[in-house]
This record gives sequence, C-alpha cells and structure tokens, in this order.
Amino acid sequence: MNIILLGPPGAGKGTQAQRLVERHGMRQLSTGDMLRAAVKAATPVGLQAKAVMERGELVSDEIVSALIGEELDAMGPETGAIFDGYPRTAAQAEALDGILGQRGRSLDHVIELDVNEDALVERITGRFTCANCGKGYHDKFEQPKVAGVCDKCGSTEFKRRPDDNEETVRTRMAEYRAKTAPILPIYETRGIVSRVDGMADMDQVTDAIEQVIAS
Ligand code: ADP
Ligand code: AMP
Repeated sequence: MNIILLGPPGAGKGTQAQRLVERHGMRQLSTGDMLRAAVKAATPVGLQAKAVMERGELVSDEIVSALIGEELDAMGPETGAIFDGYPRTAAQAEALDGILGQRGRSLDHVIELDVNEDALVERITGRFTCANCGKGYHDKFEQPKVAGVCDKCGSTEFKRRPDDNEETVRTRMAEYRAKTAPILPIYETRGIVSRVDGMADMDQVTDAIEQVIAS
C-alpha cells in the first residue's frame, strides 16, 4: 500500500501518518523530517535547504525526490509507504511515478485533508514534538497525558520548529496554494483521490482515513 497524505501545513498529515505507522507498520516518508535531519547534520543538502526552509519556500524538486528514492530503497518491498509533505509540485508528482514504478510500486490512494485555512495558524503555532521520539503534540489540542512527559517514550525534552511562526506559515500556505493544490487534478483523473474532513477530531479523521484504506 502506497498512499499520499495531501493538505496544507498544519492539516494533520504528520499526526495521521504517525497513527498509520503504529497501526499498520507502514513507513512515514516525510521530506520535511528528512530535510530537518539534513540541516541538523549540516550535510550538503542541509546547508542548501536551511535558508529556503526558514523562509517557508520550497526546496528544489531534485533534492526532495532524491531523498524519497533513498528512503524507499532502505525499506523492505512489502512495507507500505505514507508520503507526507511530498509531492508538493507537479514535477515531484511526475518524479514520484517514476520512483515508484522503478521499484515495482504504485499509488493506491491520495487522501486530501480538507481544512479551513483560518484554523491552521493556530494549529501550527501551538505545535511541538518530543525531541526524542518525534511524537507530535499541541498546546491546546493534544497535550501529553502527564504534563512535560512524552506519552510514547517518557522523554521530558520537547522542541518547536523554527519555521512554525505566523509569518513563515503564511508563505508556506501561499506555496501550497500556488504549487501543491494544482497537483490534485492529476490524481483525480486516475480516480484515486479521497477527501477527508481534516477539521474533525483527530480520532474521526483517523477513522475516515482507515475507511479509505480499507476500500
Ligand atoms: P502537518 O503534518 O499537516 O503539517 P500536523 O499533523 O503536524 O500537520 O498537525 C499540526 C498541529 O495540529 C499539531 O500540533 C497537531 O497536534 C494538531 N492537529 C492535527 N490534527 C488535528 C485535528 N484534527 N484537530 C486539532 N488539532 C489537530
Ligand atoms: P514540512 O515539514 O512538510 O512542513 O516541510 C517543512 C519545509 O521543508 C517546507 O516549508 C519546505 O521548505 C521544505 N520541504 C518539505 N518537503 C518538501 C517538498 N516535497 N518539496 C519542497 N520543499 C519541501
């Protein structure tokens, strides 16, 4: 099973991908996470991507598509893939077809998380993650069960993303509208797009995604 979670920043892609990983043993392929790891490790890719990410603009198609190919090669052929934050442009969508085809894979579902943009700034500025295991949280919508302690791994260290500020979020949303939303029709013509209400409770969103996957 290979699925794309599509939606603007803050739509809930990472939250839902983490749940699918836990429930189905699929693998989350987040180009944002890969790029942040590259920035942290100061690799050549990281050095190139850092300033672009800080501005909220898109990193080059070649860089992110290469990262996706490497990540798929590191997975067993039976492990399902959840693409989170990729593809983000028509060129990336085309590249993904080739990357999957070369590896004997094909796309099963593109799940669009349909959200009201007005809610996204609040979602993003309240977002934080466990510094140890990466579990996602929110100041208002998903706090750890015990304050200051990660539910999943018990760590007491948390972090926030430098690009999760209101100004950068506006640029990221504009990038989504201009470059990412237009790729939906490509997948609609193939009949693989399902729309899920991303404004519902997290558990309801998960249920709706499960229904799509089971269909
Ligand atoms: P994305 O990966 O699409 O950028 P996230 O999954 O990181 O988005 O979600 C952004 C923030 O919103 C996180 O802090 C998350 O806890 C919260 N969130 C995700 N889904 C919902 C939801 N359905 N309702 C309320 N808050 C949500
Ligand atoms: P995300 O974690 O998906 O919100 O991505 C964070 C940032 O990484 C984005 O604002 C972009 O600068 C960069 N990025 C992540 N994925 C891609 C992609 N598929 N194409 C281009 N840039 C990306």
